Amino acid sequence: MDIALVTGANRGIGFETARILRELGHLVYLGARDAERGRQAAARIGARFVQLDVTDDGSVARAFAQIADVDGRLDILVNNAGVQEFGTVDGPLALRGFDTNAVGVVRVTEAALPLLRRSSSPRIVTVSSSAGSFWAVTNPDRPEYNLTNAVYAASKAAATMLTLQYAKANPGMQINAIEPGYTATDMTAAFGGGRPVADAARAVVRLATAGPDGPTGTLRDESGELGW
Ligand code: NAP
Repeated sequence: MDIALVTGANRGIGFETARILRELGHLVYLGARDAERGRQAAARIGARFVQLDVTDDGSVARAFAQIADVDGRLDILVNNAGVQEFGTVDGPLALRGFDTNAVGVVRVTEAALPLLRRSSSPRIVTVSSSAGSFWAVTNPDRPEYNLTNAVYAASKAAATMLTLQYAKANPGMQINAIEPGYTATDMTAAFGGGRPVADAARAVVRLATAGPDGPTGTLRDESGELGW
Protein backbone atom coordinates (compact mmCIF):
# COMPACT_ATOMS: atom_id res chain seq x y z
CA MET A 1 0.00 0.00 0.00
CA ASP A 2 1.38 3.35 -1.05
CA ILE A 3 0.83 6.65 0.72
CA ALA A 4 -0.31 9.24 -1.80
CA LEU A 5 -1.12 12.94 -1.75
CA VAL A 6 -3.17 14.57 -4.50
CA THR A 7 -3.41 18.37 -4.53
CA GLY A 8 -6.57 20.14 -5.71
CA ALA A 9 -8.46 16.90 -5.20
CA ASN A 10 -11.91 18.06 -4.12
CA ARG A 11 -13.19 17.97 -7.72
CA GLY A 12 -12.26 17.26 -11.31
CA ILE A 13 -9.27 15.17 -12.35
CA GLY A 14 -7.75 15.42 -8.86
CA PHE A 15 -10.80 13.95 -7.16
CA GLU A 16 -11.00 11.08 -9.65
CA THR A 17 -7.29 10.40 -9.25
CA ALA A 18 -7.73 10.22 -5.47
CA ARG A 19 -10.81 8.00 -5.89
CA ILE A 20 -9.03 5.51 -8.16
CA LEU A 21 -5.95 5.42 -5.93
CA ARG A 22 -8.27 4.57 -3.03
CA GLU A 23 -9.99 1.92 -5.14
CA LEU A 24 -6.56 0.36 -5.68
CA GLY A 25 -6.11 0.18 -1.91
CA HIS A 26 -3.71 3.05 -1.34
CA LEU A 27 -3.78 5.45 1.59
CA VAL A 28 -4.75 8.78 0.08
CA TYR A 29 -4.39 12.29 1.43
CA LEU A 30 -6.92 14.42 -0.42
CA GLY A 31 -5.57 17.96 -0.56
CA ALA A 32 -8.00 20.84 -0.92
CA ARG A 33 -7.79 24.53 -0.11
CA ASP A 34 -11.37 24.70 1.18
CA ALA A 35 -11.88 22.64 4.33
CA GLU A 36 -15.61 22.07 3.89
CA ARG A 37 -15.37 20.94 0.25
CA GLY A 38 -12.26 18.92 0.98
CA ARG A 39 -13.71 17.09 3.97
CA GLN A 40 -16.84 16.17 2.04
CA ALA A 41 -14.85 14.90 -0.94
CA ALA A 42 -12.51 12.88 1.29
CA ALA A 43 -15.45 11.32 3.16
CA ARG A 44 -16.97 10.14 -0.14
CA ILE A 45 -13.96 7.97 -0.97
CA GLY A 46 -12.48 7.14 2.43
CA ALA A 47 -9.48 9.42 1.97
CA ARG A 48 -7.82 11.59 4.60
CA PHE A 49 -8.48 15.27 4.15
CA VAL A 50 -5.57 17.65 4.38
CA GLN A 51 -6.01 21.41 4.04
CA LEU A 52 -3.58 22.48 1.33
CA ASP A 53 -3.63 25.73 -0.60
CA VAL A 54 -0.73 25.53 -3.04
CA THR A 55 -0.40 29.34 -3.03
CA ASP A 56 0.04 29.51 0.75
CA ASP A 57 3.44 28.56 2.22
CA GLY A 58 1.98 28.13 5.72
CA SER A 59 -0.76 25.84 4.48
CA VAL A 60 1.75 23.69 2.57
CA ALA A 61 4.05 23.47 5.61
CA ARG A 62 1.17 22.46 7.91
CA ALA A 63 -0.08 19.84 5.45
CA PHE A 64 3.31 18.12 5.23
CA ALA A 65 3.87 18.38 8.98
CA GLN A 66 0.57 16.50 9.39
CA ILE A 67 1.62 13.74 6.96
CA ALA A 68 5.09 13.53 8.55
CA ASP A 69 3.61 13.20 12.05
CA VAL A 70 1.10 10.51 11.14
CA ASP A 71 2.86 8.44 8.46
CA GLY A 72 6.44 9.66 8.26
CA ARG A 73 6.74 9.10 4.52
CA LEU A 74 5.11 9.72 1.16
CA ASP A 75 5.29 7.40 -1.88
CA ILE A 76 3.24 9.30 -4.45
CA LEU A 77 2.76 13.04 -4.95
CA VAL A 78 0.31 14.21 -7.60
CA ASN A 79 0.73 17.94 -8.30
CA ASN A 80 -2.76 18.41 -9.74
CA ALA A 81 -4.06 21.76 -8.44
CA GLY A 82 -4.38 24.23 -11.28
CA VAL A 83 -6.27 27.24 -12.56
CA GLN A 84 -7.08 28.59 -15.96
CA GLU A 85 -8.58 32.06 -15.96
CA PHE A 86 -10.23 33.84 -18.82
CA GLY A 87 -11.00 37.51 -19.29
CA THR A 88 -8.86 40.59 -19.22
CA VAL A 89 -5.23 39.61 -19.01
CA ASP A 90 -3.31 41.75 -16.56
CA GLY A 91 -0.61 41.46 -13.94
CA PRO A 92 -2.81 40.13 -11.14
CA LEU A 93 -4.31 37.47 -13.42
CA ALA A 94 -0.84 36.38 -14.54
CA LEU A 95 0.42 36.31 -10.97
CA ARG A 96 -2.51 34.12 -9.90
CA GLY A 97 -1.92 31.73 -12.80
CA PHE A 98 1.79 31.37 -12.16
CA ASP A 99 1.36 31.27 -8.38
CA THR A 100 -0.92 28.25 -8.59
CA ASN A 101 0.34 26.39 -11.67
CA ALA A 102 4.08 26.93 -11.35
CA VAL A 103 5.09 28.29 -7.93
CA GLY A 104 2.58 25.88 -6.39
CA VAL A 105 4.57 22.99 -7.88
CA VAL A 106 7.74 24.37 -6.25
CA ARG A 107 6.12 24.88 -2.83
CA VAL A 108 4.54 21.44 -2.72
CA THR A 109 7.42 19.50 -4.29
CA GLU A 110 10.06 21.09 -2.03
CA ALA A 111 7.93 20.26 1.02
CA ALA A 112 7.31 16.71 -0.24
CA LEU A 113 10.90 15.74 -1.13
CA PRO A 114 12.05 14.92 2.44
CA LEU A 115 9.06 12.59 2.90
CA LEU A 116 9.47 11.07 -0.57
CA ARG A 117 13.13 10.29 0.26
CA ARG A 118 11.84 7.94 2.98
CA SER A 119 9.92 5.92 0.37
CA SER A 120 11.38 2.83 -1.31
CA SER A 121 9.72 3.85 -4.57
CA PRO A 122 9.05 7.60 -4.71
CA ARG A 123 7.03 9.04 -7.59
CA ILE A 124 5.82 12.51 -8.54
CA VAL A 125 3.29 13.20 -11.28
CA THR A 126 2.68 16.82 -12.21
CA VAL A 127 -0.59 17.31 -14.06
CA SER A 128 0.74 19.81 -16.56
CA SER A 129 -0.58 20.43 -20.07
CA SER A 130 0.53 20.07 -23.67
CA ALA A 131 -0.67 23.68 -23.95
CA GLY A 132 2.70 24.36 -22.33
CA SER A 133 4.67 22.28 -24.84
CA PHE A 134 6.73 24.37 -27.30
CA TRP A 135 6.69 21.37 -29.65
CA ALA A 136 2.87 21.11 -29.60
CA VAL A 137 2.02 24.82 -29.85
CA THR A 138 4.33 25.29 -32.86
CA ASN A 139 3.05 22.21 -34.69
CA PRO A 140 0.08 23.06 -37.00
CA ASP A 141 -1.02 19.41 -36.88
CA ARG A 142 -1.60 19.59 -33.12
CA PRO A 143 -4.76 21.03 -31.53
CA GLU A 144 -2.59 23.10 -29.15
CA TYR A 145 -1.44 25.14 -32.18
CA ASN A 146 -4.72 27.10 -32.02
CA LEU A 147 -4.77 27.69 -28.25
CA THR A 148 -4.33 31.30 -27.23
CA ASN A 149 -4.36 31.38 -23.41
CA ALA A 150 -0.82 32.71 -23.07
CA VAL A 151 -0.69 32.85 -19.27
CA TYR A 152 -2.02 29.32 -18.82
CA ALA A 153 0.31 27.95 -21.53
CA ALA A 154 3.36 29.72 -20.10
CA SER A 155 2.59 28.64 -16.53
CA LYS A 156 2.24 25.02 -17.69
CA ALA A 157 5.52 25.29 -19.64
CA ALA A 158 7.06 26.34 -16.32
CA ALA A 159 5.38 23.44 -14.49
CA THR A 160 6.78 20.99 -17.04
CA MET A 161 10.28 22.48 -16.81
CA LEU A 162 10.19 22.39 -13.00
CA THR A 163 9.17 18.74 -13.14
CA LEU A 164 12.03 17.94 -15.53
CA GLN A 165 14.51 19.74 -13.29
CA TYR A 166 13.25 17.88 -10.21
CA ALA A 167 13.68 14.62 -12.13
CA LYS A 168 17.28 15.47 -13.02
CA ALA A 169 18.06 16.49 -9.45
CA ASN A 170 16.50 13.35 -7.95
CA PRO A 171 17.64 10.37 -10.04
CA GLY A 172 16.31 7.86 -7.50
CA MET A 173 12.74 9.02 -8.05
CA GLN A 174 10.26 8.71 -10.92
CA ILE A 175 9.19 12.27 -11.69
CA ASN A 176 7.09 13.05 -14.75
CA ALA A 177 4.68 15.61 -16.15
CA ILE A 178 1.45 14.44 -17.77
CA GLU A 179 -1.00 15.90 -20.24
CA PRO A 180 -4.21 14.24 -19.06
CA GLY A 181 -6.08 14.68 -22.35
CA TYR A 182 -8.85 17.17 -22.99
CA THR A 183 -11.33 16.34 -20.24
CA ALA A 184 -14.83 17.45 -19.24
CA THR A 185 -14.32 19.30 -15.95
CA ASP A 186 -15.27 22.71 -14.54
CA MET A 187 -12.10 24.05 -16.15
CA THR A 188 -13.27 23.18 -19.65
CA ALA A 189 -17.04 23.56 -19.12
CA ALA A 190 -17.16 26.84 -21.07
CA PHE A 191 -15.82 25.07 -24.18
CA GLY A 192 -17.86 21.89 -23.88
CA GLY A 193 -16.83 18.40 -24.89
CA GLY A 194 -13.93 16.55 -23.34
CA ARG A 195 -13.54 12.97 -22.30
CA PRO A 196 -14.84 11.51 -19.05
CA VAL A 197 -12.83 12.60 -16.05
CA ALA A 198 -12.21 8.99 -15.02
CA ASP A 199 -10.29 8.39 -18.28
CA ALA A 200 -7.93 11.27 -17.53
CA ALA A 201 -7.52 10.16 -13.93
CA ARG A 202 -6.71 6.59 -14.98
CA ALA A 203 -3.84 7.93 -17.09
CA VAL A 204 -2.55 9.91 -14.09
CA VAL A 205 -2.85 6.89 -11.80
CA ARG A 206 -1.08 4.57 -14.26
CA LEU A 207 1.90 6.90 -14.26
CA ALA A 208 1.77 7.46 -10.50
CA THR A 209 1.79 3.70 -9.87
CA ALA A 210 4.29 2.70 -12.58
CA GLY A 211 6.69 -0.07 -11.61
CA PRO A 212 10.45 0.33 -11.08
CA ASP A 213 11.02 0.41 -14.84
CA GLY A 214 8.66 3.36 -15.24
CA PRO A 215 9.83 6.56 -16.94
CA THR A 216 11.32 9.65 -15.33
CA GLY A 217 12.03 13.13 -16.65
CA THR A 218 9.34 13.02 -19.35
CA LEU A 219 6.31 14.94 -20.49
CA ARG A 220 3.76 12.41 -21.68
CA ASP A 221 0.15 11.61 -22.32
CA GLU A 222 -1.41 8.18 -22.06
CA SER A 223 0.01 7.20 -25.48
CA GLY A 224 3.62 7.96 -24.62
CA GLU A 225 6.20 10.72 -24.60
CA LEU A 226 5.42 14.19 -25.96
CA GLY A 227 7.86 16.75 -27.30
CA TRP A 228 8.90 19.61 -25.01
P1 NAP B 1 -10.97 21.80 -12.11
O1 NAP B 1 -12.13 20.88 -12.20
O2 NAP B 1 -11.15 23.26 -12.29
O3 NAP B 1 -10.22 21.48 -10.73
C1 NAP B 1 -9.15 22.26 -10.31
C2 NAP B 1 -8.81 21.83 -8.89
O4 NAP B 1 -7.65 22.60 -8.48
C3 NAP B 1 -9.93 22.16 -7.89
O5 NAP B 1 -10.00 21.13 -6.93
C4 NAP B 1 -9.46 23.45 -7.25
O6 NAP B 1 -9.95 23.67 -5.94
C5 NAP B 1 -7.96 23.17 -7.22
N1 NAP B 1 -7.20 24.39 -6.95
C6 NAP B 1 -7.16 25.54 -7.64
N2 NAP B 1 -6.37 26.44 -7.03
C7 NAP B 1 -5.88 25.82 -5.92
C8 NAP B 1 -5.01 26.20 -4.87
N3 NAP B 1 -4.47 27.43 -4.81
N4 NAP B 1 -4.70 25.29 -3.91
C9 NAP B 1 -5.24 24.06 -3.95
N5 NAP B 1 -6.10 23.63 -4.89
C10 NAP B 1 -6.40 24.51 -5.87
O7 NAP B 1 -9.87 21.42 -13.22
P2 NAP B 1 -9.34 20.02 -13.80
O8 NAP B 1 -9.68 20.00 -15.24
O9 NAP B 1 -9.69 18.88 -12.93
O10 NAP B 1 -7.78 20.32 -13.71
C11 NAP B 1 -6.89 19.55 -12.92
C12 NAP B 1 -5.48 19.74 -13.49
O11 NAP B 1 -5.45 19.23 -14.83
C13 NAP B 1 -5.08 21.22 -13.61
O12 NAP B 1 -3.72 21.37 -13.25
C14 NAP B 1 -5.28 21.52 -15.09
O13 NAP B 1 -4.49 22.58 -15.53
C15 NAP B 1 -4.88 20.19 -15.70
N6 NAP B 1 -5.38 19.94 -17.06
C16 NAP B 1 -6.71 19.82 -17.31
C17 NAP B 1 -7.15 19.56 -18.60
C18 NAP B 1 -8.61 19.39 -18.93
O14 NAP B 1 -8.93 19.17 -20.13
N7 NAP B 1 -9.52 19.45 -17.97
C19 NAP B 1 -6.22 19.44 -19.65
C20 NAP B 1 -4.86 19.59 -19.36
C21 NAP B 1 -4.45 19.82 -18.07
P3 NAP B 1 -11.26 24.62 -5.65
O15 NAP B 1 -12.46 23.73 -5.79
O16 NAP B 1 -11.00 25.11 -4.26
O17 NAP B 1 -11.23 25.73 -6.68
